[in-house]
Amino acid sequence: MTSLQYPPARELPGRLAQVHGRIAAACMQWGRAGDSVRLLAVSKTQPADAVRAAFGAGHRAFGENYVQEALDKIAALTDLRAQLEWHLIGPLQSNKTRAVAEAFDWVHSVDRLKIAQRLSQQRPPTLPPLQLCLQVNVSGEESKSGLAPADVPEVARAVAALPRLHLRGLMSIPAPAQGFEAQRAAHRALRELLEALNAQGLALDTLSMGMSDDLEAAIAEGSTIVRVGTAVFGARG
Ligand SMILES: *Cc1c(COP(=O)(O)O)cnc(C)c1O
Repeated sequence: MTSLQYPPARELPGRLAQVHGRIAAACMQWGRAGDSVRLLAVSKTQPADAVRAAFGAGHRAFGENYVQEALDKIAALTDLRAQLEWHLIGPLQSNKTRAVAEAFDWVHSVDRLKIAQRLSQQRPPTLPPLQLCLQVNVSGEESKSGLAPADVPEVARAVAALPRLHLRGLMSIPAPAQGFEAQRAAHRALRELLEALNAQGLALDTLSMGMSDDLEAAIAEGSTIVRVGTAVFGARG
């Protein structure tokens, strides 16, 4: 349990501290409370031992993109299960919803009502409600998954009414943008969409936006969860 195979394990505490420092500095700069932004460590393509090392450094919340890879990792870390929070941030197909409903705490990447309905039906009653975000294609890229902004209000109202789920907010993966102001524009669009939904009577508290390269711009626009892979674990192999 203590022998860590993950080679850069000794670098993890420093990397985590560095990312927490970036988050704290951005919160300070934009007048936000230091605890208003959570760090989700994106462990996709990293071995279970990397997650174990991050756990050893005090981290608890992990994001995964690929369902099967995540299930294998969750199984390899069952001894830590009660202390870990697993977030799915990658594409979710209908045939995988049951496994996800049974294994994860959060899903950020819901982009169809049908997927949410299946998760709602399949979430075991013994578990707390599955925490959910709707993924929005803010940049309007053809290749990206996510709801078109215009479709979000109707889907959000329907998802919010489903049992066994708790709709928390919105998630986006904007097209890569150069420079702070360009990065900020895409994040602003997601924030404005969330504010519009809340003005219509929803009570959403989560903006899942910002990654290694743009977390400061995301925090400037109100991000509450930054999803950070490379800056925590190093380059993916
Ligand atoms: C990989 C990934 C991240 C993390 O990206 P980094 O640039 O490594 O920080 C965040 N969100 C999603 C959806 C991802 O797929």
